[in-house]
Amino acid sequence: MLDAVCTHGGEVRTYNIFDFQKLDPAVIELKRQHLQCPNPDCNGKAYYRRASVDGKAACFGSRYHITECDEGRSSEQGSREEQQAQEVSQILAKAGEVVFDFSPVVVKAKPSAKTADSATQAKTGRRSSSTTANRTAKTATLGMEKALASLMRGSGLDSSNTVIQLDGRFNFKAKNLFVNFADAEPQASAADAKPKMFWGTISHSDADLNWLNPSDCDDVGIPIIRYQKAILSRFGITDRRDVEGAGLILYGKCFWNRSKTRKIIELWDSERIFISLLAD
Ligand SMILES: [Zn+2]
Repeated sequence: MLDAVCTHGGEVRTYNIFDFQKLDPAVIELKRQHLQCPNPDCNGKAYYRRASVDGKAACFGSRYHITECDEGRSSEQGSREEQQAQEVSQILAKAGEVVFDFSPVVVKAKPSAKTADSATQAKTGRRSSSTTANRTAKTATLGMEKALASLMRGSGLDSSNTVIQLDGRFNFKAKNLFVNFADAEPQASAADAKPKMFWGTISHSDADLNWLNPSDCDDVGIPIIRYQKAILSRFGITDRRDVEGAGLILYGKCFWNRSKTRKIIELWDSERIFISLLAD
């Protein structure tokens, strides 16, 4: 994606990546959460990724291209997510109740196409064998990685009436459990808030990777400082650029900050989070 449409401040303007990266850093911070795919039929929420220290160029991209969008390059990562999304659609079509599996997905290295692919194959293999051998449709399971792939591809998980069971005792209709960052409704305080599964993509982090900002909206902040070490090491994140454009799903609570100017989404713990880093 060489161009992106920016809608910041009510002004609609198309930028090419070469001009955008030359803007003042403070201006980039203002505009980067208001980017869209330039294809008017798509308008998928887009992200800006800065140039890397080791010479990778700055770029625009979107995790939300519609299937027919020419701006969405087909990639191994994209096909894997498509497959995961289809698996979720099948689960939703068959199962009346789904048990949510919070077991953390271990990401050993940055997902260069090959390692991510083999890791997924190993995992899928383990899971599908146990599914076919021992489980009936009634005890279908769903984990964070597949749920995120499905949600990002708009395959209907967040509008489904299928019952999702958490921690063996809490039942939610999927449509009441999965909430995009842009639709997060804050409670007055953390004590008032009930946990939900929030999802979307990451626009950028602060300089110290203490909190994450979604690209879906600009009024939500996700502090990760409390679990920072565990999260960064689990996903192999070493640089701010690593999280730019990454998909994100987490179990947590949404509430207002003290001055009621910003919604905070607080993580439940260091494990109930999955970050889908870009492959390049
Ligand atoms: Zn698009």
